[in-house]
Amino acid sequence: MIQFCPKCDGLLRKQVINGKVYLECKCGYKIEAKEDKENLKKRVQRKKESLEKNLIIVTQEDKISIHPKVIRTCPKCGHEEAETWQEQTRSADEPSTHFFRCLKCRYTWREY
Ligand SMILES: [Zn+2]
Ligand SMILES: [Zn+2]
Repeated sequence: MIQFCPKCDGLLRKQVINGKVYLECKCGYKIEAKEDKENLKKRVQRKKESLEKNLIIVTQEDKISIHPKVIRTCPKCGHEEAETWQEQTRSADEPSTHFFRCLKCRYTWREY
């Protein structure tokens, strides 16, 4: 936001003194930019809110990706811990498929 000096029409420069924002002119004219400070507060608040929103999204994604751990031997690397989940494939009358993913090499396989 560009503001001009009411005395000489010079361009006002922004200056921060003791945490307060002032608009200062070459001619010596100086006002406290209260509006700027308010806007800054709002901007900080908005940033905080969007950060919190992002944080919530991240935690939700984390929850989705967590599957129960089971003892299963990985057919690829022989590791004995895998996460498991079920997925209904094709029609509803078919039994759901159990998926396993090795916690070591991320190899995924299924059992019916
Ligand atoms: Zn001036
Ligand atoms: Zn494995």
